[in-house]
Amino acid sequence: MKKILNYIDGSYCEPFSQDWLDNYNPSKGVVYSKIASSSSVDVDNAYLAAKKAFPSWSNTTINERSAILSKIADLIEDNLDKLAEAESLDNGKPLSLAKSVDIPRASSNFKFFAHAITQFSSEAHESIGLNTMNFTLRQPIGVVGCISPWNLPLYLFTWKIAPALAAGNTVVAKPSEVTPMTAFLLGDICSKAGLPNGVLNIIHGTGPSAGQAIVEHPNIKAISFTGGTKTGEVIARKAAPMFKKLSLELGGKNPNIIFADCNYEKMLSVTIKSSFANQGQICLCGSRIFVEKSIYLKFKKDFVTKVRKLKIGDPFVSTTNIGALVSKPHLEKVVSYIDLAKEEGGKILTGGNKVTVNGSENGYYLEPTVIEIQNQQCRTNQEEIFGPVVTIMPFETEEEVLVMANNVKYGLSATLWTSNIDRTMRVSKKIEAGIVWVNTWLNRDLRTPFGGIKNSGVGREGGFEALKFFTESKNICIKYDN
Ligand code: NAD
Repeated sequence: MKKILNYIDGSYCEPFSQDWLDNYNPSKGVVYSKIASSSSVDVDNAYLAAKKAFPSWSNTTINERSAILSKIADLIEDNLDKLAEAESLDNGKPLSLAKSVDIPRASSNFKFFAHAITQFSSEAHESIGLNTMNFTLRQPIGVVGCISPWNLPLYLFTWKIAPALAAGNTVVAKPSEVTPMTAFLLGDICSKAGLPNGVLNIIHGTGPSAGQAIVEHPNIKAISFTGGTKTGEVIARKAAPMFKKLSLELGGKNPNIIFADCNYEKMLSVTIKSSFANQGQICLCGSRIFVEKSIYLKFKKDFVTKVRKLKIGDPFVSTTNIGALVSKPHLEKVVSYIDLAKEEGGKILTGGNKVTVNGSENGYYLEPTVIEIQNQQCRTNQEEIFGPVVTIMPFETEEEVLVMANNVKYGLSATLWTSNIDRTMRVSKKIEAGIVWVNTWLNRDLRTPFGGIKNSGVGREGGFEALKFFTESKNICIKYDN
């Protein structure tokens, strides 16, 4: 059976423990490869390789670094089919999605930061009268840690690694143990692109073992983490007494607010995507839909009709809209929320059941599910489900929907549908979220700040925000004689 090995100092190697985890193909429900179950020994080896590589990598010219990152981007693009198939097999997402979104974006992440680093600059402050000139150096931190989740595996893994490397750091990175395959393949791509040995080290294994060893390593000075809010809490607790720099991109329970004056057809087709793309397993999905009362009944009917037409099935079949959920435990978690919704008085308008797909009887399939709720305080509407499940309810006024939208512990993103520019401004400013999309969803310009407020995280990724995170600023003050 294929083994997913660690990539340390430019070479693939087995874990010190010789322990292996099962890697499942969620669309079939079968183990298809074995994952290195790494421990602090492997993390320390990765750290030593990264430490050795740092002086040279941090002193390469910007052009040299940029050229290597661009080459990685090109090689990802050249291997689009192979990587997309690997992603789909590992995650259960439709191959069409991996081909059109996940892998192209992984390539863009490298391409973007290859360019961004050539434009990254810092401030100078002259104090006239005091005869001093201050300028700020932005220096790489050293060895940094990047930890990513399973929902957009290569997409989010590279979203952290690319800026970290561009800024001149060396990296110890860990993908999710649920979807490690494309990160494993990335090692080879980096070697082929000429990334010097030790600059990027990829460790596989569980969160509590390999992930925690990265967080607890005394000399890994910054941690960029994307994952669940509870894990973020654990990481913050461990990292705080060590005074590590932390970027936390956590969970969400995002509102999708639909006003009657919106472009209805456009809203309807985008709302299908913002509800169920990637089986609803995107932190930015709009899982709480609020619809203005005057169009609520029409929306309910049209939305449910469209949802029922979505094709659930084998991710490798080109007509599939909804693939498999990522794992059996995750499927069971999502189903438990559907049961909870019923107990809480929610009405299942469509979906709610597991699906048996011919030829893939043991896969983790679930119908896209729409739940009409009466009370937005119910747990179904408050807790992150992270599956193909949305709640819907009507609202009457702008003030009322703002209260409902903001009444969760999360604050990642929000979507707003309206053609009224005044309302757009009023509501966008009052929404408690790091990202607001108006008349669109998941429209990403990589230069923009990305991240959440409240329990959705701390810090921002994207553009120069990411390059700022992965550098330390140092002010140099020079007194001159006038
Ligand atoms: P998770 O928190 O279980 O795991 C994420 C990563 O952290 C994995 O690599 C895991 O091995 C590692 N990990 C787990 N415990 C750890 C520990 N104690 N120390 C160090 N590392 C540890 O999350 P998941 O289930 O993989 O992903 C789903 C979650 O990610 C959802 O909550 C989703 O909203 C969130 N997410 C957020 C964003 C964002 O940008 N805000 C993007 C995608 C996903």
